[in-house]
Amino acid sequence: MSQTKPTLRVPEDGEPLAMRDGELHVPANPIVPFIEGDGTGPDIWRATRRILEAAVDKAYGGEKRIAWMEVYAGEKAFENYQSWLPDETVEAFREYRVGIKGPLTTPIGGGIRSLNVALRQLLDLYVCLRPVRWFQGVPSPVRNPQDVDMVIFRENTEDIYAGIEFQEGTDAARAFLSLLREHFPKEASKIRFPESSGFGVKPVSREGSGRLIRAAIQYALDNARKSVTFVHKGNIMKFTEGAFCAWGYELAEEEFADTTYTWRQWERTRDERGKEAADAEQAEALAAGRILVKDAIADITLQQVLTRPREFDVIATMNLNGDYLSDALAAQIGGIGIAPGGNINYTTGHAIFEATHGTAPRYANLDKVNPGSLALSGEMMLRHLGWAEAADKVLKGMDAAIGEKIVTYDFARLMEGAREVKCSEFADAMIERM
Ligand code: NAP
Repeated sequence: MSQTKPTLRVPEDGEPLAMRDGELHVPANPIVPFIEGDGTGPDIWRATRRILEAAVDKAYGGEKRIAWMEVYAGEKAFENYQSWLPDETVEAFREYRVGIKGPLTTPIGGGIRSLNVALRQLLDLYVCLRPVRWFQGVPSPVRNPQDVDMVIFRENTEDIYAGIEFQEGTDAARAFLSLLREHFPKEASKIRFPESSGFGVKPVSREGSGRLIRAAIQYALDNARKSVTFVHKGNIMKFTEGAFCAWGYELAEEEFADTTYTWRQWERTRDERGKEAADAEQAEALAAGRILVKDAIADITLQQVLTRPREFDVIATMNLNGDYLSDALAAQIGGIGIAPGGNINYTTGHAIFEATHGTAPRYANLDKVNPGSLALSGEMMLRHLGWAEAADKVLKGMDAAIGEKIVTYDFARLMEGAREVKCSEFADAMIERM
């Protein structure tokens, strides 16, 4: 394998990860590419790097170590390479498989819609993973934020995000309309104001849904979770959202027959032998440790994650629903500033973990903002590498620091009796408490 890149410095003391027989093989000194990010990115990256290094050190006493490799995207890349996303950055993520990034400025008029979206598409990172849990002491708008402990698997490559849209009044929209009228006159006649409509296409495939749902169920099994809920709007969009749910049940029953119990099975048993028998069957399956596979309509889900959060655990959903749901849930636990995210392809092992907020440019270089989102993304990365002991240290440090009300400005302004610290000092506080 090539260890030289024209302008990137590959660390000599590191080794690449490998994927063998569907398993990620992680050496003791993996090369991990990182993008520090724009705006406040460098501040939160410096803090995060120290947090992750301390966690690995404390967990493995020097036996494991990350060999960091800086790669460029965003403003820093544009200055040095006149490209917002140089090919070799994408190649580095491809070659070294698992990396982490700070927030990036979205270039305006640069030909790239979003650097984040571009990276996800180029590496086919089909899962957007967003765990949502509350940290003791974080100010929250709800009464029982501790009941929120969910993991969202948001499909990352399909749905309305495919970007197939035709603007109202353009030749493209007119051509699309005439195509509809020619081939689907019945459907075309349902359009209320055809001449002044814009159009969007929502592709949702069996493969795309299947790989996302498979990853969610496998995650639930690996992490001793209790249920997987398919969140969809299948009552209205039958052949996209409804199909997602139907394919999900099929997949669960075919591929995870011994380890899951589905609501579809419950319905079959009820129809054959009555509700009591179905309830008993479900109770027995769950008592034996099977994962409950169920579904919920998206609008009701947005109510119930507030009113009955304990009923939700792992959630598998399509791109747009996942977008709404992850931000709503992050707000519920007061965690917009500390919500982490990962973009993952479980088939190839490729993954990029990232802060979910933006570059917050007005705080750049003030050593002020909360590094929590990137640090917790690093925690997810450690877990993805199989370094759970180190990941636990990160959580422990964060739990303890916030629990003692040592927080950055964003939390301090909402907490009674908080001790406000800088970004780097919050990292110190976490490290001392690991
Ligand atoms: P933003 O950077 O997320 O900032 C909005 C507000 O969120 C900040 O003013 C701040 O609120 C709070 N905030 C963000 N990060 C924080 C942190 N680490 N700690 C504490 N508070 C934090 O959103 P934006 O201003 O709309 O976007 C700025 C740039 O970021 C744009 O170029 C956008 O395209 C880009 N962006 C990138 C990503 C990404 O790379 N993943 C995501 C979103 C946006 P207060 O001022 O109230 O304290």
